[in-house]
Amino acid sequence: FKRVNNVYQKKDSLNLTSEQERLLDKTYKRFVRSGANLNAEDQTRLREINKELSTLGITFSNNILNENNAFKLFVDKEEDLAGLPEWFRQSAAEEAKAAGQPGKWLFTLHNASRLPFLQYSENRPLREQIYKAYINRGNNNDENDNKENIRKIVSLRLEKAKLLGFDCYANFVLDETMAKNANNVMSLLNNLWSYALPKAKAEATELQKLMDKEGKGEKVEAWDWWYYTEKLRKEKYNLSEEDTKPYFKLENVRDGAFAVANKLYGITLTKLEGIPTYHPDVEVFEVKDADGSQLGIFYVDYFPRSGKSGGAWMSNYREQQGDTRPLVCNVCSFTKPVGDTPSLLTMDEVETLFHEFGHALHGLLTKCEYKGTSGTNVVRDFVELPSQINEHWATEPEVLKMYAKHYQTGEVIPDEIIEKILQQKTFNQGFMTTELLAAAILDMNLHTVTDVKNMDMLAFEKEAMDKLGLIPEIAPRYRVTYFN
Ligand SMILES: [Zn+2]
Repeated sequence: FKRVNNVYQKKDSLNLTSEQERLLDKTYKRFVRSGANLNAEDQTRLREINKELSTLGITFSNNILNENNAFKLFVDKEEDLAGLPEWFRQSAAEEAKAAGQPGKWLFTLHNASRLPFLQYSENRPLREQIYKAYINRGNNNDENDNKENIRKIVSLRLEKAKLLGFDCYANFVLDETMAKNANNVMSLLNNLWSYALPKAKAEATELQKLMDKEGKGEKVEAWDWWYYTEKLRKEKYNLSEEDTKPYFKLENVRDGAFAVANKLYGITLTKLEGIPTYHPDVEVFEVKDADGSQLGIFYVDYFPRSGKSGGAWMSNYREQQGDTRPLVCNVCSFTKPVGDTPSLLTMDEVETLFHEFGHALHGLLTKCEYKGTSGTNVVRDFVELPSQINEHWATEPEVLKMYAKHYQTGEVIPDEIIEKILQQKTFNQGFMTTELLAAAILDMNLHTVTDVKNMDMLAFEKEAMDKLGLIPEIAPRYRVTYFN
């Protein structure tokens, strides 16, 4: 740190390029934010805080994991399955069998079970049961309770921020971002909130109308949202994944993403054979600039297999630095080809492919002198910009017509399906945006407090949500006791 600090103090006299200055600032800040400028006593306290936070973080996540696994809804009467599609009944029957209760159906809090249950089950009391179990995770006053853990975490984070010269933890974290501070973040979130909440309220009204038609005199509750939204979706669009999937053969979508990059940036991607890879599923492409010079090598690893993490991401096997070009990969978990049927992607997967390729472009197009500043080594709130811009191209009608061709007939996706895809993009977004923003604002509230002593975390959450005017039909996507 002495050597870094020495350079940092003289930086105005060093005639640095802007990239060198950025690298110096970044390096210096990394030390300072870890406590390099503190006196010995404060450094000792910071080490204790970091250690405690790491232990508490593990306990907090383990408790959520336990809660997720503890809840088991066994159904033994077939009539209680009303509304559930056949594939879902089958998987629930297998789950019950694996849990030692053959002949029954098992439903859990995991997304793949809870969400289709809330979406399709006609059994309102059971929907309520599974919904309430989910939003009360870590809040059952038992050995998995997280209320005291979250209070301690918030308290230690505040102490850490103060040690390092900040008034609250949010400002400590945001000091390293484009957003810079909590005020800027809150004005962005509040602005979005002013649009999202009225939209969510309008959606709630629409759902209520649908319930009124059934004539039971029931008022829409949080556990009704998914069920009536699914009904409304069918009524309005009548578009299922099965209608769009044939147009989204993986290779076609990938070539579409490549073609868009060619139109926008003039780059080309050509498949390379005979390059060593870690698994036969991995494909390799050479990426060239418009003038024919090499930009890098792009690896794709698209299918799930045992031992591979789920989800989708981009990373570098080699960072770009000076004349050394990068080796970039996209790893995803797309639907695998089965028999004669190629991999046909869902709408979500199509957007994921474009999104991750946007990150890859960020890594491939970079031209820097230093690894520490090249590619995706940018501030946290810039990282998702290239990927989100690229993701938006996926559903542009002009782009869809370039790549979305029926895998059997070659027919270009019809205008009426494009129209429905575009309409569906905003369907239920009042709900989605509101539950996400409520959680984001709760997070900001938790990390801008300046006194945590004797804080009642649930009362704090309620007060924050009441202040926002959050409607009871929607809970924040993450609550204090399971905000991982
Ligand atoms: Zn991303």
